[in-house]
Amino acid sequence: MTISEAARSTGSRAAPFAVLDPATGETFDEAPDQPPDELDAVVGRAHQAWYGWREDPSARTTALRAAADAVHSAREDLAPLLTREQGKPLAESYAEVDRTVARLRHFADLAPRTRLINDTRPVPSEIRWRSLGPVAAIVPWNFPLQLAAAKFAPALAAGNTVVLKPSPFTPLSTRLLGALLSALLPEDVLTVVTGREPLGARLVAHPGIRHVTFTGSVPTGRAVAEAAAASLARVTLELGGNDAAVLLDDVEVERIADRLFWAAFRNCGQVCMAVKRVYVPARLHAEVVEALAQRARTVAVGPGLDPGTRLGPVNNAPQLARVEQVVRRALADGARAAAGGHRLERPGYFFAPTILTDVPPDSPVVTQEQFGPVLPVLPYRTLDEAIDAANSTRFGLGGSVWGTDPERAEAVAERLECGTAWINHHAELSLAQPFAGIKNSGVGVAGGAWGLYGNLRPFVVHRAPEDRR
Ligand code: NAD
Repeated sequence: MTISEAARSTGSRAAPFAVLDPATGETFDEAPDQPPDELDAVVGRAHQAWYGWREDPSARTTALRAAADAVHSAREDLAPLLTREQGKPLAESYAEVDRTVARLRHFADLAPRTRLINDTRPVPSEIRWRSLGPVAAIVPWNFPLQLAAAKFAPALAAGNTVVLKPSPFTPLSTRLLGALLSALLPEDVLTVVTGREPLGARLVAHPGIRHVTFTGSVPTGRAVAEAAAASLARVTLELGGNDAAVLLDDVEVERIADRLFWAAFRNCGQVCMAVKRVYVPARLHAEVVEALAQRARTVAVGPGLDPGTRLGPVNNAPQLARVEQVVRRALADGARAAAGGHRLERPGYFFAPTILTDVPPDSPVVTQEQFGPVLPVLPYRTLDEAIDAANSTRFGLGGSVWGTDPERAEAVAERLECGTAWINHHAELSLAQPFAGIKNSGVGVAGGAWGLYGNLRPFVVHRAPEDRR
């Protein structure tokens, strides 16, 4: 049965759209382009399913644990499909599937706590927690599975139902994930819809949606917030980042170079909280540039399915064009490529791992999010100057400080304007921690208990004093 036949068999009028393999630039499969006017029925069914799903927390725990087991059992199907549509090396796809499973397990066992408020009244009030209703989850193409799970696992654990829309660049692994989970969850508790815009725009504006949880770029996040304002749905936005790594003058360059390189280049630099700028004491600048450039020149670049590959292609043609544009602009502004600086002459969306030096601080590769395998390394004279520069963009997702004295590094990290600061590493998250960007990097808090409560509303029971229990 073809996808369009499968879509028709569910009553959808979806026509297929092409899904491209970024390692070749060629179509390798297709997905249903669901007409936005079908969202009324989808959201309506999600609303009906909510009445049952919200009632029984222990049934939710059981179902989400079973879902985690099912995803784990399907690793061998999910990981290669993810690499095929996203481009990342196969080992990273397996790791992403494992993080998806970990999120399901984490939230399966996380329950909200009823709390008493001990105010001055003789009978304390009680805070119970209630689910919200249908949640719209919108996900980008860089980590389709784990970012989806970071949204639907807490939303479902809280008792909501979810309509999940992946990026049209990476719909297939999410569809497979949705099929696995739909077999275990009650009907319409989790629905995956795929298609090109305006499907996402229409979903977030739908009056039946009670919470929009979105991960993606700042401009789209702004559009999502505006659209959701019409129905005053709750909005959680996890948006772009332009994380700075500040190296201190006591840093041992060779000791940290590998870790710093991969904090910038993992997933081909397509990570919201990747290191996107490096600030280095002027005295160490040449040494740091060379340490990173040497790694950029020698890292194995190729299709994600090739066993030796450490760095895959950029995910899609528009993103490759953006990366090329910011690099060209930097070079035109006087920057020098210590490594890379150009596309690779081969099929697919490959860009040479690039280390830039002599970059003007107002060049877009410094002030904006490059989201590709490109890293500017900027010298500084005083620490104050470095911190001012690190804090100078409109982003505030993460940042890091690197040096041999962790206490001193931590004192510097305290001065970074961001949601998460790392010392001597970068972009590591634990499942239990809150994740919240500031400035243009986000609205609301995801992760751990914060992610769960972000999908709940407080419901307060206030008794008359004489009705003391
Ligand atoms: P994007 O904003 O272009 O798209 C994100 C999603 O929104 C896609 O599913 C897209 O189809 C959908 N969409 C597009 N227009 C829409 C609209 N008007 N209304 C509703 N949905 C719409 O982002 P992208 O290029 O897919 O992803 C890269 C961006 O995501 C980067 O900026 C990156 O930093 C960010 N990101 C942030 C985090 C985080 O946690 N802060 C994590 C990963 C990625």
